[in-house]
Amino acid sequence: MIFLKYTCDRCQLEAPYWHRARIYQLADEITCPLLGERVWCNDCNTLRSAERFPPSDYLQEKIGRLQGGELTDREMEFISLLEMSKEERIAELLQKAMTHLKWLENRQSPPRCLECGSTNFVRIPERWDVVDDYFEHPGCGGTFHQTMQSFAREIGIPVYDAEGNRLNDF
Ligand SMILES: [Zn+2]
Ligand SMILES: [Zn+2]
Repeated sequence: MIFLKYTCDRCQLEAPYWHRARIYQLADEITCPLLGERVWCNDCNTLRSAERFPPSDYLQEKIGRLQGGELTDREMEFISLLEMSKEERIAELLQKAMTHLKWLENRQSPPRCLECGSTNFVRIPERWDVVDDYFEHPGCGGTFHQTMQSFAREIGIPVYDAEGNRLNDF
């Protein structure tokens, strides 16, 4: 995972931020990737990741593609690794994508902070296109600048239920 640290130029507060993989544990033991985005959580009062729901168009297109028997190069790559036939791989991905779409359609609560579960947060879009990634410190008036970046080894994948509640402590 990538670890970033931001420091406010006015109050000197340090806000750590982790880019890491997370998953949903959905029905029938199926897991789906959880997309996170950078937010300022008003309940944690710091920088966090919150859920970002995938567009249903994206999932519908993926389902259509798989039903047509098409795999992307990346999906093909895993076939030999997993010792699966192409048909088995398609069936597996299709089941996952359909579960993912059904989850999206049935989801009740709005996106949650992935640390505390709050829905009270402000999005801070990530800026990959600029050298200095900065943003306002809400309620302070200062500006956070990135002051550290490093890689850290994953100790485990955080798992969440269908409503974005955390199921483990990783
Ligand atoms: Zn500040
Ligand atoms: Zn929070």
